[in-house]
Amino acid sequence: MKMLLDGNWVDRDEKIEVLDPFDNSLIDTVPSGNDRDVETALAAAARGFQITKKMTVYDRAQILFRAARLIEERLEEFATIIARESSKTIGEARKETSRCVNTIICSAEEAKRILGETIPFDSFPGGEKRRGFYYRFPIGVVLAITPFNDPLNLVAHKLGPAIAAGNAVILKPATVTPLSAIMLVEVLIEAGLPPQAIQLVTGYGSVIGDQLVADERVRMISFTGGVEAGKHIAARAGIKKIGMELGSDSPVIVWKDADMQLAVESCVSGAFWAAGQNCIGVQRLLVHDDIYDEFKSNFVALTKTYKIGDKLKDETQMGPMITETEAKRVEQWVKDAAGAGAAVLTGGGRKGALMEPTVLENVPAEAKVHCEEVFGPTVNLYRVDDLDNAIEQANALPYGLLAAIFTRDIETAFKAAYELDCGGVMINDSTDYRLDSMPFGGVKYSGLGREGLKFSLQEMTEPKVVCFNLPGM
Ligand code: NAD
Repeated sequence: MKMLLDGNWVDRDEKIEVLDPFDNSLIDTVPSGNDRDVETALAAAARGFQITKKMTVYDRAQILFRAARLIEERLEEFATIIARESSKTIGEARKETSRCVNTIICSAEEAKRILGETIPFDSFPGGEKRRGFYYRFPIGVVLAITPFNDPLNLVAHKLGPAIAAGNAVILKPATVTPLSAIMLVEVLIEAGLPPQAIQLVTGYGSVIGDQLVADERVRMISFTGGVEAGKHIAARAGIKKIGMELGSDSPVIVWKDADMQLAVESCVSGAFWAAGQNCIGVQRLLVHDDIYDEFKSNFVALTKTYKIGDKLKDETQMGPMITETEAKRVEQWVKDAAGAGAAVLTGGGRKGALMEPTVLENVPAEAKVHCEEVFGPTVNLYRVDDLDNAIEQANALPYGLLAAIFTRDIETAFKAAYELDCGGVMINDSTDYRLDSMPFGGVKYSGLGREGLKFSLQEMTEPKVVCFNLPGM
């Protein structure tokens, strides 16, 4: 597949192979973008903004509605490419594609609700004769940088609102999973988006990232990825807006009055969705002492039934990690934790990129599986018996994306909702629940700003004040 630069689909001699992590088969290649390609994209995007800022809301919304219909028509094609280039099973990939349709539709709907307000200029002496308002204006060129784990819908979360707002956008998709993102750009063009409005540069973040990030023609960076890349980007961005959706080590409290079956099923799914490569995937389960043994035995029993393997088979529940190197890293982290005293209740093994779903307990505080984002199919159980202490443990690490609690008691739920330090608290769901239109983002190292179409549109537009001095009034 190709890059889209200044309205042309272009290839390069230097290519990046896109491999299926299940069997390392070659799916396709994409060009490895270089510094000249980045310059072409930046210059074209600046020109593209002169077009997009004059497009009406109606036109922008119609393009997005048409694009959503096209994706829906090709749902199986999109799902298959996601299931091949990424870790996701075909079932997970179908769900991601239908969420993407919804993300694009919501972007179109929100385009119609970019509102301003009147301003009470007479609220301060000197303003008696003034009348005015503000409206929201597109920010300019948005640079969208996306990760591998939701290769389509997280791209839609940036392109949808950027287009809805009237911005021009440069997309740098994840190096290992660029294909479904390229298909999305093809669909947007087919739906009528002027090609100058969108630039698509494929390549390595380490090669082309700095040039894109530092350029002053870019007015906003919308980044989703790991904390390390996030820090690197923030240090080079200069004076521009930055939105960051970063990692986490999501805590879930399972209180003594929890619905046991609901908690077990939700947390197993939340721990192993996309082979645990999920920013809101369950990593730390803080379980009340009274129900700990029952929860542990049910959780381990259900985990052991998980069917792992070929992503394209309907019955497969969990696929491989994104690369064998990543699976080796997680295997090593599990071994290190076990060496330091953790008990491996199930899993721990690896075959190629396929890491077994793994459950640990008695994990020491210094183990990486405890204190860093694992981003793999392994989850830790901890015994707790005091709510203040459970909340303190949940808050103890430097992340805060989503947190969760299972309880039937309203006061317990409210206390957790108020005191868990994060971007959202799920009650009677695991952390792995997201509605695409809810405000989504984190505190501490989990991010800056919020996505979720209405909220992305706020981030991707700026207020412009209009003030009339009316001396004759
Ligand atoms: P990553 O940080 O390695 O890469 C993300 C993107 O950044 C890729 O496109 C990569 O090429 C690019 N990149 C890397 N270095 C760059 C640089 N110096 N300049 C510019 N771009 C650069 O992340 P990943 O491994 O693809 O994804 C996993 C991470 O993403 C996890 O930490 C996960 O928690 C996080 N994530 C967060 C959310 C969220 O919404 N909070 C959602 C999904 C994933």
